[in-house]
Amino acid sequence: RLSISPLKKINKTINLYAQSKNKEIETLQKNAAFRREFIADISHELKTPIFAAQGYIHTLLDGAVEDKSVRLKFLKRAAKSLNALDKLVQDLLTLNQMESGVIKFHFESFDLKEVIHEVIEELEHKAAKRDMIIRFFYDKDKSYHTIADKDKIFRVCQNLISNAIKYNNDGGEVEVFLKMLKNNIMVEVKDNGKGISPDDLKRIFERFYRVEKSRSREKGGTGLGLAIVKHILEGHKSKISVSSTLGKGSVFSFELPLDKDKKKVA
Ligand code: ADP
Repeated sequence: RLSISPLKKINKTINLYAQSKNKEIETLQKNAAFRREFIADISHELKTPIFAAQGYIHTLLDGAVEDKSVRLKFLKRAAKSLNALDKLVQDLLTLNQMESGVIKFHFESFDLKEVIHEVIEELEHKAAKRDMIIRFFYDKDKSYHTIADKDKIFRVCQNLISNAIKYNNDGGEVEVFLKMLKNNIMVEVKDNGKGISPDDLKRIFERFYRVEKSRSREKGGTGLGLAIVKHILEGHKSKISVSSTLGKGSVFSFELPLDKDKKKVA
């Protein structure tokens, strides 16, 4: 007769097998749900500027084209929507390429303060339009050389500084700091704008997450900027940190390694 213990063993093996299969099914279901949600999100985001552009063009075709001032206004709005659509598609492609590891990083030694100066120069007129000044603080006697992907770090700084302007109040302040640490350089972007609540703070790095959808869209935001920033910094084995107080403002910061061979200012 069969003793009880081999039967128990068989039962246990069957149970373990069933458990592992259930887990596999659960993972597959989760992946499928994630994909469905992602496609729904993208479709919704794409539809918004397409519908807007279609609306303006159809109104023009229905007769508004006869009125010169309306014609110009509507064409400008349609062009703005199409630009937003273009930016969205570009950002989606970048994020997708980053997530699938297709994008390569090109590391070189460069001075972070020069990159930040370039970014500020590019964004200064946007800030000035809303009576804001961008202040940049660093030690003139120090070299801020790092080894990183210059273009991608440009993009990180561009995104953080442009958000500090976008989500600030008119007349607000944007301050950028370069701080020398023992082995790293810290970049800090500070604003005295509306700030972010603790619940939103947990989610702002998710793709398409925006605290106020309409304000972000109106300012030309895609909701993908910080997700891209996070990926770029991960590619540098670094990460983005943020602290924020509602009504007071936010500070975004990240660190990159100091290139110690280029310690002296040239
Ligand atoms: P967007 O294209 O909407 O700017 P981001 O991914 O760059 O997308 O940012 C996500 C959201 O985080 C923004 O929509 C905004 O609500 C919030 N956010 C980002 N930076 C700031 C900031 N400096 N101050 C307040 N809110 C911010």
